[in-house]
Amino acid sequence: MHELPVTESILNIALQYAERERATHITDLFLVIGDLSSIVDDSIQFYWDIISRDTLAEGAILHFERVPMQMACFDCGHTYRPKPGTLSCPGCGSTTVQVAGGEDFRLEAITIEKDEQPVDAGSTI
Ligand SMILES: [Zn+2]
Repeated sequence: MHELPVTESILNIALQYAERERATHITDLFLVIGDLSSIVDDSIQFYWDIISRDTLAEGAILHFERVPMQMACFDCGHTYRPKPGTLSCPGCGSTTVQVAGGEDFRLEAITIEKDEQPVDAGSTI
């Protein structure tokens, strides 16, 4: 279970972004999860609901996009999605291959709301 620190880092990134943009609320977060990553959507959502409480991100909706596993062949340079049961290259049959995608986990986009009221330049604090 490593979703908690992952979820915390997502929240930190989102809050930093919101602060920089002077957002009043974070409404949506778009996450990309590779098929090979062990991250579980439900766990992220579970922790998110807890740790985002009383922050600008409270109630924000998490959107998960799954990206498929990709392999790359060292011998012919082909990149492909492996068929079930084998990892070898469909182009040349080589087994000298490496994982080229599907391990990702990243925050792709954040949607925020801003308070668009004009700033009163004459006021003093
Ligand atoms: Zn090949």
